[in-house]
Amino acid sequence: MKVVEEDFYKAIALLKAGEPVAFPTETVYGLGAPVFNEAAVKKVFAIKGRPSDNPLIAHVCRMEEVERLAVEIPEAFYRLAKAFWPGPLTIVLRRRPEVPAIVSAGHPTIAIRMPSHPMALRLIEAVGEPLVAPSANLSGRPSPTKAADVKEDLKDRMVLDGGECSVGIESTVISLVGPKVLLLRPGSVTQEEIEAVLGEKVGVASKNDPVHSPGMKHAHYAPRAKVRLVLDETQIGEANYLIASEPVGSAPLFDRSNFYSRLREADRLGVEEITIYCDPKMQQDAGLMNRILRAAGLMH
Ligand code: AMP
Ligand code: MG
Repeated sequence: MKVVEEDFYKAIALLKAGEPVAFPTETVYGLGAPVFNEAAVKKVFAIKGRPSDNPLIAHVCRMEEVERLAVEIPEAFYRLAKAFWPGPLTIVLRRRPEVPAIVSAGHPTIAIRMPSHPMALRLIEAVGEPLVAPSANLSGRPSPTKAADVKEDLKDRMVLDGGECSVGIESTVISLVGPKVLLLRPGSVTQEEIEAVLGEKVGVASKNDPVHSPGMKHAHYAPRAKVRLVLDETQIGEANYLIASEPVGSAPLFDRSNFYSRLREADRLGVEEITIYCDPKMQQDAGLMNRILRAAGLMH
């Protein structure tokens, strides 16, 4: 999809004036605001109805910007950035005091990512500073993976249309601030891939650890419909509305890239219950399973 140049310049002007704008990244659409503009960041929380204790991710377009945001950057950061950036890996570092505390919900840390979507990179570059960009949905709803999904939740917001997101689930989040590297949120960059780059084992944050993983305690990614998860094909039974990871009759298929849009589709049809069949191979996908379990209310 081609964004009209005029839209692009309008988006830059709005962002510079402190007005949040939605834009595409390769993971999901984000609701952007300049990281150093506290009032604009506040608007992002308000528009989404996001709890103020759920910190945001700062999106950068070049490595030098990381040093405007973080201090005491360990060598492991540069290795991970070299291997996975631009891409769907978010890295938590120590926050520079100049970065408004509201961005990190008061934590002394800051989550940073360099997205690979060219439109996101171009926008950050044009605004001249990193952009916070939580998913451009109402808090708790499935994340938006196309411009129309953003419009569904945030009617009057400007959204730059960059087509469908290629990854489709939120970034992997890891922390480099503690004594041990910790995986805070699984995603399409896997724990094994991170361990291979670091040459060491990575710990997994427990959901009961609010300091390490503040966002994990909030309900997430849920459609309005009730979700029933089936892990064994013989247990599908009478499903009113089924989505499946491999062919089952004429059920719509889903994978990482269209999972959220399948949930939104079901909500638009007004179905009461969605049955999700997940075959054994897909059950190995830690990132997608995390979102499915949350959508089903089986994980908080
Ligand atoms: P979202 O922007 O909705 O994809 O959520 C951002 C995720 O990154 C949440 O799950 C947060 O818990 C996590 N996160 C953001 N900033 C920090 C931080 N400073 N420390 C730990 N986790 C963070
Ligand atoms: Mg989100």
